[in-house]
Formats: sequence, structure tokens, C-alpha cells
Amino acid sequence: MRKLLLIKYSSEIFLKGLNRSSFERKLKSNIAAVLKGSQYEFISDQGRWFIYSENLDEVVEKVKRVFGVEEVCIVTEVEPTMEAIGAQAIKEAEDFGNATFKVESNRANKAFPLNSMELSREVGAIVLRNVKGLKVDVHKPQRVLNVEVRERAYVYSKRIKAVGGLPYGMNGSTMLMLSGGIDSPVAGYMMARRGVELSCIYFHSHPYTSERAKEKVKDLARILKGYTGHITLYVAPFTDIQMDIIDKCPENELTIIMRRFMMRLACAVAEKYNINSVTTGESIGQVASQTMEGLMVSNDVADRPVFRPLIATDKTDIMEISRQIGTYETSILPYEDCCTIFVPKHPKTRPRVDLIRNSESVLDIEKLVQNAIDNMEVHNL
Ligand code: ATP
Ligand code: MG
Repeated sequence: MRKLLLIKYSSEIFLKGLNRSSFERKLKSNIAAVLKGSQYEFISDQGRWFIYSENLDEVVEKVKRVFGVEEVCIVTEVEPTMEAIGAQAIKEAEDFGNATFKVESNRANKAFPLNSMELSREVGAIVLRNVKGLKVDVHKPQRVLNVEVRERAYVYSKRIKAVGGLPYGMNGSTMLMLSGGIDSPVAGYMMARRGVELSCIYFHSHPYTSERAKEKVKDLARILKGYTGHITLYVAPFTDIQMDIIDKCPENELTIIMRRFMMRLACAVAEKYNINSVTTGESIGQVASQTMEGLMVSNDVADRPVFRPLIATDKTDIMEISRQIGTYETSILPYEDCCTIFVPKHPKTRPRVDLIRNSESVLDIEKLVQNAIDNMEVHNL
């Protein structure tokens, strides 16, 4: 008899049909990657995955952050006999206090004499006979006692919610425009959670934005790395571009033209490193540049899909996710941001693509972009 961790993966993976095994393989290798260096044994029993480890708590903490894992359960492995299952069920139920409960069974091992329904009823009866104060409620039980019979049998009642999503690396790649703010790390997390591989780009306006501001962005990328295993952060120098825009373009168009350059750079670096898409932390209506027209004008220079996973999310909800994923405390550190340094007094909220293209035509766009890429820092975090 030993304790194991049962790994339940996202129900979406079950729906993958022929692709299912490649999702499973990826998930398995991602789990192995987070457990690298830990002592553990991976056990597969008729389609269920278990992990044995002397240090199960540590394994739980790591595995529950792997995208694609929906839930982990601490189970006790017993002999697949009614006596052994009943005895463990009693032990488990002794912790239920005066709760209502029900038994849920899953009999995959057809050699076992009872079917799932009969097994639940039998285990329920054993528990009621042996543990005082409990009542069965099959509709709204306070506690659920699970029994699974495969090659071995497993009894459990302790479930721990995991991150969910899809295995990281299964759904293409994206270049996250990562600022030091609250939104973009959350946007990146949401893409990664759907299995999209993340790289990050930060536009740095030295000396107007400080070394500390850059360090803060690196810290945010490191927090994201806690979910993805590895991450590359590109730091593109942005000062020359900004200065040239300020010099030559209408003041009320600074922000929108600057945002077009950010988009061009993100796409160009994505192209260079074979990254399929771009992601931003924009949310409709949040600030002057995040209007439908503003988004259209910045999309105008993109040569690949641009994802804005937060587009319809309220700021308070974004902040909530940011607390949950652990980026909030870093995001709120008060370092300057390149967007807030040169803000026009009356930024255009309804820019028109043709007019903006025209205003930009005085700039040597290609050269500005190429220079920024040539002088980019690459940090493999
Ligand atoms: P955030 O909280 O992510 O900084 P924000 O609400 O401050 O977003 P903006 O400043 O308008 O909004 O930026 C919109 C998006 O543009 C950001 O979410 C981010 O994806 C990208 N972005 C802005 N500034 C930078 C920067 N210096 N480097 C990289 N990306 C940036
Ligand atoms: Mg910002």
C-alpha cells in the first residue's frame, strides 16, 4: 500500500481523436521536464497516469503547474480486492467528519467481479457500517470518495485543482510584446496555457527608461518561465525610433506611430526566429490607443496573426489573474515605461490608416527597423 499522485489531464485532450497520442506524449515530456532532478517513478495503469515519489508534496506543487493537467489527486494504491478497497475507503472516510458523501467508482478492469455501480453501492455500504455520523447524498454530496479499479485499485478523496489548458508547445508559437505592465504578462500566460510557445520582446528606450525597468521586464519573463520551462527575451532598442517620430511626425500621432513600429519590430523578430504570431496585452477601450481604429492601424503593419487574449477582459479581472499567476507584485513596481514618457497631450483615438501611412512616409522605416534588430539583446532566461 502506497500513496501515489494521480494525474488527470484536460478533458479537451480526450477529444483530440487521432491527435490525442501526440498531445499525451507532449504532456508526459513536459511533466518529466518539471520533475527533472526529483526522485520519482512514472506509472501508467490502463490509461491512467500516476507518480510515485518519496516527496509527493514537492511533486504535487510542480505537476499542478503543468499546462494540460486539470487535476491531481493523492490516491492510495491497494490490492484490487473488495477487502482492501473497503478497508482503505473506511480510512479515507474517517476524515469526512459529519459530511454527506457519495462514492464514485470507475472499473476499467473487467476481471473485477462488480461493475462500477455495484462497486459504489458496496463501498458506500461498508463506509456507512463502519464510520459514524456520515450520510449519503448522491445529488449534492459534500465529499466524494473515489474508487478506481485497474490492474491495481486506487482509493481517494483528495483532489487538487491544477492549471488546466493544453500541453505547452502543441499549438505553435507567439511573440509576446512584454512591457512592465500588468496586462501583457497575463496575456502571455493565457496563450502559453493554451499550448502556445512563448518568446518575449521588450522595447527599451534607454536612457529614458532605466536599467531597473528592463530588469523588471526580465523578472516578469522569469515568472512566465516558471510555467513554460524556458523563455527567450529580446530587448530591442527603441529610443532612435521614438526620437525620429517625435522629430518628424505630428504630435498627436506619436503614440499610434510608435505602436506601429512596435508591431513591425515584433513581426520582424518573429520572422527571423520562425515564430508564427504576435500577442499583446491590449484590451478594448482601456486607453486612448486601444480603440477599434487604433487596433486596426497597428494591425495594418502586421504580417502575421496578432492575438489579444485580454481584448474583452475587464482590468479588475486581469489584475485578479495577475495575482493568481504571481506577476502582479512585480508589475506594479513603479518604473517608467516607454509609452508613458512621450505622451501626446491629445492622442488621436480614431486614427485613419491612410493618414497615418502618409505621416510616416517621411521616416526611413526599413532602416529604423533594421537598426533596432541589429542592436537587439537576446536573453535566454
Ligand atoms: P501593459 O499593462 O501590458 O503594459 P498597458 O495597459 O500599459 O499594457 P499599453 O501601454 O497601451 O497598455 O500597451 C499595450 C500593449 O503593447 C501592452 O500590453 C504590450 O503588449 C505592448 N507594449 C507596450 N509597451 C511595450 C514595451 N515597452 N515593450 C513591449 N511591449 C510593449
Ligand atoms: Mg504598459
